[in-house]
Amino acid sequence: MVRPSGNADVTRSAILAFLGTSGSASRADLARALGVSPALMTQLVKDLIADGLVRELSMSPSNGGRPARMLGLATAARRVVGMKVSKDHVAFVETELSGQIVRSDSKDYDATSFTSLSDLVSLVHAFVGEERDTPLLGIGVGVPGSVDAQGSGVVDSSLLGWRQVPLGEVLSRELHVPVLVENNVNALAVAERLYGSGREHAEFLVVTIGEGVGAGFVTGGVVVRGSRGGAGEIGHIVAVDDGPLCSCGNHGCIEALVGEKTLVEHARQAGIITPSAAIADLQGLADDGVQLALDIFRRAGRPLGRIVAGLVQVLDPEVVIVSGEGTRGWRHWASEFERAFRGALTADRRSIPVIVESWDDEAWALGAAALVASAPFYSEESSGEQGRRVRARLTNVPAGVVG
Ligand SMILES: [Zn+2]
Repeated sequence: MVRPSGNADVTRSAILAFLGTSGSASRADLARALGVSPALMTQLVKDLIADGLVRELSMSPSNGGRPARMLGLATAARRVVGMKVSKDHVAFVETELSGQIVRSDSKDYDATSFTSLSDLVSLVHAFVGEERDTPLLGIGVGVPGSVDAQGSGVVDSSLLGWRQVPLGEVLSRELHVPVLVENNVNALAVAERLYGSGREHAEFLVVTIGEGVGAGFVTGGVVVRGSRGGAGEIGHIVAVDDGPLCSCGNHGCIEALVGEKTLVEHARQAGIITPSAAIADLQGLADDGVQLALDIFRRAGRPLGRIVAGLVQVLDPEVVIVSGEGTRGWRHWASEFERAFRGALTADRRSIPVIVESWDDEAWALGAAALVASAPFYSEESSGEQGRRVRARLTNVPAGVVG
């Protein structure tokens, strides 16, 4: 069918996700839940029915008024695999189209090894396993770095030590399924829009803290990718003069100031953890109220608050969602973050809500799976041939057949 130009509306995926989660809903339920006008919802549902993705069910029970026609997924029986690639491990989930996680796993991995690509292929093979009754719609991959386009999946990542790695092409060829690759924060933003707090907001900002610092911008319900898929790399905004060396080669980047590696290093220098200790140990000390540990998190909150305030001034989102593994210690960041953040905002937006979500590895991988669930509705430029293959599998492929 002919699609409107520039059609990149995650709201369509959100409809599928909502129906997958709730089983059935009326057009009015969907419009209310996803914050779009009834007229637009009627149009979107019409398209989804024409695409063979949604079907009309029976009428809802009447409460005296006119009964509403209920809608449901045409084909719920598709599975999706999502994976988050980190420097030292890979997290996997298998989900239903609704985003419901069926199973998950985590495997050790060395992204810096000479055999990193073939090692990754082996790990994915092992997780995906033999073909089952439920066909695999595709694999979504989240990586900490820039990706040229979701469909081609060429990765540049200073964190992984990868330059121009053709990840999507290799995985797709070796596994014989559509593969979509995206910056992991952008993938997380898609998951927020489909399944999380972003469901009620078409304009929001996701900020992640942890090993790296990143951001995803959703505007008009769509994740902003930038010209080369590198939008949202806030970790590499230089925040101080003559600051510490960053993984990108510059000095004083926000990631070099507040990334986990730096916080751990500060704790070592303060003599409160051993050389082999990790972020969890520092976290534990802060939880126990050790002042030097608390100070490290507090100091980190300030530059982060400033940078995020800058983003809010530029992008004018409805809400800021803070996520990532670093949020485990958020209560220690919060006071200085809030002070710096609110203090750097203009009066008209000083009361913007900040939602903190304690997403874990599984949630990151769910973000990657959401790439596949949303692929049928992304523009050709972004998901390309892989997105077309996902769409074909969603509508045409009989159960049990893959190709
Ligand atoms: Zn940097």
